[in-house]
Amino acid sequence: MTLSYAEAELPKPIEVPDRIGRLNALAYNLWWSWHQPAHDLFERLSPAVWHASGRNPIRFLRRLQPELLRASAADPAFLSAYDAVIEEFDQAITGQDTWISKYAPQLTGKTLAYFSAEFGLHPTLPIYSGGLGVLSGDHMKEASDIGLPTVAVSLLYRQGYLRQRLDASGWQQDVTAPFGPGDEPTTQVMGSNGRPVEVEIDFEGGGGTIRVQVWRVLVGRVQLYLLDSDIEGNPEWTRTISSRLYGGDREHRLRQEIILGIAGVRVLRALGIAPDYWHANEGHAALAMVERCREFVAQGMSFEQAATEVRHMTVFTSHTPVPAGHDIFSREFIDRYFNNYWPSLGLNRDEFWALGQHGHEDGFNFTALSMRLSGHRNGVSQKHGEVTREMWKDIWPGVTASEAPISSITNGVHLPTWVSPRTQRLLDDHLHPNWRKRTEEALTWEPVSRIPHGEFWQSHLDSKQDLLDLLDRRMRARWLGGNFEPNQVVASAPFLDRDALTIGFARRMATYKRATLIFRDPDRLARILTDLERPVQIIFAGKAHPADDGGKRLIQEIFHHAQNPKYGGRIAFAEDYDMRLTTRLVAGVDIWLNNPIFPLEASGTSGMKAAANGVPNVSILDGWWIEGYHEEPRNGWGIHPADASGDEQDALEAELIYRTLEEQVVPLYYQRGADGVPHGWVDVCLNAIRSVSPEFAMRRMLRDYVRELYLPASAHRVTDPVEPTLIAESAE
Ligand SMILES: *Cc1c(COP(=O)(O)O)cnc(C)c1O
Repeated sequence: MTLSYAEAELPKPIEVPDRIGRLNALAYNLWWSWHQPAHDLFERLSPAVWHASGRNPIRFLRRLQPELLRASAADPAFLSAYDAVIEEFDQAITGQDTWISKYAPQLTGKTLAYFSAEFGLHPTLPIYSGGLGVLSGDHMKEASDIGLPTVAVSLLYRQGYLRQRLDASGWQQDVTAPFGPGDEPTTQVMGSNGRPVEVEIDFEGGGGTIRVQVWRVLVGRVQLYLLDSDIEGNPEWTRTISSRLYGGDREHRLRQEIILGIAGVRVLRALGIAPDYWHANEGHAALAMVERCREFVAQGMSFEQAATEVRHMTVFTSHTPVPAGHDIFSREFIDRYFNNYWPSLGLNRDEFWALGQHGHEDGFNFTALSMRLSGHRNGVSQKHGEVTREMWKDIWPGVTASEAPISSITNGVHLPTWVSPRTQRLLDDHLHPNWRKRTEEALTWEPVSRIPHGEFWQSHLDSKQDLLDLLDRRMRARWLGGNFEPNQVVASAPFLDRDALTIGFARRMATYKRATLIFRDPDRLARILTDLERPVQIIFAGKAHPADDGGKRLIQEIFHHAQNPKYGGRIAFAEDYDMRLTTRLVAGVDIWLNNPIFPLEASGTSGMKAAANGVPNVSILDGWWIEGYHEEPRNGWGIHPADASGDEQDALEAELIYRTLEEQVVPLYYQRGADGVPHGWVDVCLNAIRSVSPEFAMRRMLRDYVRELYLPASAHRVTDPVEPTLIAESAE
């Protein structure tokens, strides 16, 4: 594969001596972030400046003294580390001997276009809000690792996602923290005339044409294009559309999705990129399919022919069974934004409207639209596949749920990103040196069971200390910064104890995840936490969506519990859950708790990250855990969902969680050998690594996408039992 950018196009934060001139290219490719030797290379130039720059290599290079760079360019030890990293970098970016060339060579000359409304790639690029974005980011990193030719499309969100602060009453404050173009790995894409590449879209029913420009982020071999409407000359109200992730109302959301889908396709065309097959991650990207239909109609096809073409080469992944998670837009908005557009599809108003119909819903549903215009569809765990077939079967007339053409591919996590450096060192010591190249194979992980218990335990205690140190530093910085009351200090749990069994609960504060379920019986919980011999503590983290007061109330409730002396200072709420905090939490707590309302957790991925670090899950059997949980040999604890609903369900499931903690988890954790090591416990931890890592590695997920969806989509084949209803049947 050839690169369609030249390193010479990258900005130069600082003049770097020629001998180490590729440092600049390394800083501008997020590849460094999942390769520890690259990370170490920056750090050894100046550990102090590296940490002061928030481990952002671009900001770091900008701040370094030129003399220091000159000295390093003459330091043999530095040069030998530099040469080794650059060699690996070049191999990773341009090497031809890849997993894809070996196992799916049909895909080597083809390009996948992957559209997603968010990407969680690195904490310094805050264009993600939660699991969906982190999954897209992991997907791109793995696509690069296996050599799958991919371009990705999203929005720039210059204001990032919110930074979370709790005020003295525990109410979430949504702080924006714009990131600067000069400090981040975003480079504006210029045309051959030296001017910014721009495309035009017609916005608001002929109300005006706006221009969209584009930025590039390099993710190993993958090029991610970020669309940006903040251009001088665009009407003022259109300039903020792309700037804030989920910042506004429904109409703002629709405008964002018009940019993502329609401008996204046009930008790829403007760049001369001709994807062979396409993947829409969630319904947010549905309009990319519509725009591609428009292109075919412009070439002379009927809409039905165009839709058939598009379906053959399009993959669509649905991510949630929660109804509010699907975009539904009103007739008024659809009329306003598309009445100039549907004639170019050869459709009238009713025919266009029919494309977004689903059951008796009053509105235009982008998931229904995506189901109709994609021919390769999946949910994100086996259970979620089932739920998704049931939810959407009416798209295919006369088809039962089990026949609905929606498969499932269970999510995974990118292990080099989520396995902590400490755990990776442990694995380096005990696994085959090539383990990172074979993460999806069970055999790779067999030697984990032979890791000496004392060695694992020491490494885990060190990770736990890393976590507590991070929480301490954050708390102290907040205290120093002022406007932080003593009660806020108490809620951040200054009393956390490295020796206490530590439960982690961190995720978006969506109501169905039931963050406060564990407080169901306060006295019983207090007895568990404050036991003198066998204490337990809980660390909570998570952001609520800015418009979700229900979620904010859950946070406030936890904040109050954390200050209640009854719990003995053994409850903490850690502010500002993001990818950086995730990495510390999933390696540093002792168990990972998850108690969603079944079957609403489509997959869940944070529990996979924890297990891969040897942190067992205690979780309701929902999403991925139904597939991941093993009782024999035990790799965690599975809580069976109660056959009840509402309050009764909460009561029954809370009871099961208490009982599991009291009778199994706590006793096993505190049962120590003569050497002070909890051998029975460490068995569970090692089983978690060994059983979960291969099955839920992003490598396994991509292998499944390649075999089941990408190969047929790239060959433009579909296997639907019947055509979905497009026009006649579903028009009212
Ligand atoms: C992994 C991750 C998630 C996803 O977690 P779930 O288990 O799906 O709730 C969300 N946010 C961040 C920052 C993550 O790293």
